[in-house]
Amino acid sequence: MTRRPPVPTEIRRQGTHGVRIFWDDGHQSEYTNDYLRNHCPCAVCRERPRRTLPIVGNKGGPLYAKEIGVVGRYAVSVKWSDGHDSGIYGYQTLRGLCPCEECRPKGPPGSSKRTAETLGKFESETS
Ligand SMILES: [Zn+2]
Ligand SMILES: [Zn+2]
Repeated sequence: MTRRPPVPTEIRRQGTHGVRIFWDDGHQSEYTNDYLRNHCPCAVCRERPRRTLPIVGNKGGPLYAKEIGVVGRYAVSVKWSDGHDSGIYGYQTLRGLCPCEECRPKGPPGSSKRTAETLGKFESETS
């Protein structure tokens, strides 16, 4: 049993921008706040349609991680500036979410090229 999933050695909040995690295997992950929140694993967020965040008190302020705590030895909990605090991100989940190029050579999911082709309306102006 030598395979051990990487664990964070340091978690840094980057103000209103995002969160940076240093892993014990030398990797670094940087998550923007929106991205992290979009992937909040809590039941409330998962039951919602993807695009609607359960923003408790969005009064125009930026959404950022107010507090980050460690849950046991396997997860991180995030308390958001809007009061949402039920999201617990497992280390493996977090690592899986790492948006860097190394982890996601094909870019983040859902960003596949989809040219928004407007349904061909070729009405030539024949006047
Ligand atoms: Zn949530
Ligand atoms: Zn990565």
